[in-house]
Amino acid sequence: MKINKEMGCVFCEIARKERDAFIIYEDELFLSFLDINPRSLGHALLVPKRHVSRLEELNEEEASQIAKSLKNVMSILKEKLNAGGFTIAIDNGEFAGQEVKHLHVHIIPRYRRGPAIIAAFPVIGELKERLHEIHKVITGAS
Ligand code: 5GP
Ligand code: ZN
Repeated sequence: MKINKEMGCVFCEIARKERDAFIIYEDELFLSFLDINPRSLGHALLVPKRHVSRLEELNEEEASQIAKSLKNVMSILKEKLNAGGFTIAIDNGEFAGQEVKHLHVHIIPRYRRGPAIIAAFPVIGELKERLHEIHKVITGAS
């Protein structure tokens, strides 16, 4: 039997409307629904309808649409729930703690001043000293 990587994927099932979800937005390529474990009022996920596991796997059309879809969902949450800010997060890949292997953007509305997501990553002093070297490796610049 041919192994289909979409088999058993909960977000593919939601995209195919085979599994219940509280859908709040849909366009040709993307779908947004409420996270079953909300981290804030209106916490939603934005997923491509096509199964890809990571951001780098989006095709050109999906890649250019994702920001527009994200913006549309944020507008809805701003208007309907009066969100004052957002934390936008993608756990992209196993090393980043991605649990569901179908790309999803967390859209977490914020209603009062609170912790920044970046605070989960303390500044590494040793790397701060090596910015010139690291820039050189990435860009080839001298
Ligand atoms: P991550 O992979 O970024 O760690 O998180 C996966 C997210 O998907 C979690 O926040 C989890 O609550 C959510 N999730 C997992 N299964 C389902 C599901 O069947 N329906 C919905 N609506 N959300 C889900
Ligand atoms: Zn999937």
